[in-house]
Amino acid sequence: MKLEESENDMNDATATTSADVSTDPDCLFCKIIAGQVPSTKVFEDDEVYAFKDINPKAKVHVLIVPRKHYANVHELAEKSPQTLVHIVEVAKKIADDAFHGSFRLIFNTGEDAGQSVFHVHAHVLTGEVLAE
Ligand code: 5GP
Ligand code: ZN
Repeated sequence: MKLEESENDMNDATATTSADVSTDPDCLFCKIIAGQVPSTKVFEDDEVYAFKDINPKAKVHVLIVPRKHYANVHELAEKSPQTLVHIVEVAKKIADDAFHGSFRLIFNTGEDAGQSVFHVHAHVLTGEVLAE
């Protein structure tokens, strides 16, 4: 698995199309996956897309999202548990690359817990010693 960093663009052959029933046309992260909103790619494969958070809370702050739209981690765990496991594996790869494997993994779930985008995303914080 190769980590990379590049601007996502609309010509990306792996971009999800608007005809895909598992995307939401009003969802910011579906638009990022489709290349309709620019992002800085860190990693991608058939199942997930990982990109830099626009407002980083650590030296390395990456968001990992499944290509298919699920509202939150609970829905993901129920409908596609293997994708949740894969997200943890991808987080580990990112942290191996950035900071000898140490990382913090956060899924804000629900508005009152700070979730602002309702397409499940793992926050991977790494790249430095993190405050408690
Ligand atoms: P939440 O608050 O839902 O847990 O996390 C949403 C995250 O998405 C926030 O950390 C926020 O900085 C990030 N974010 C919001 N809009 C954009 C965007 O357009 N591009 C990128 N790369 N990150 C975004
Ligand atoms: Zn979405």
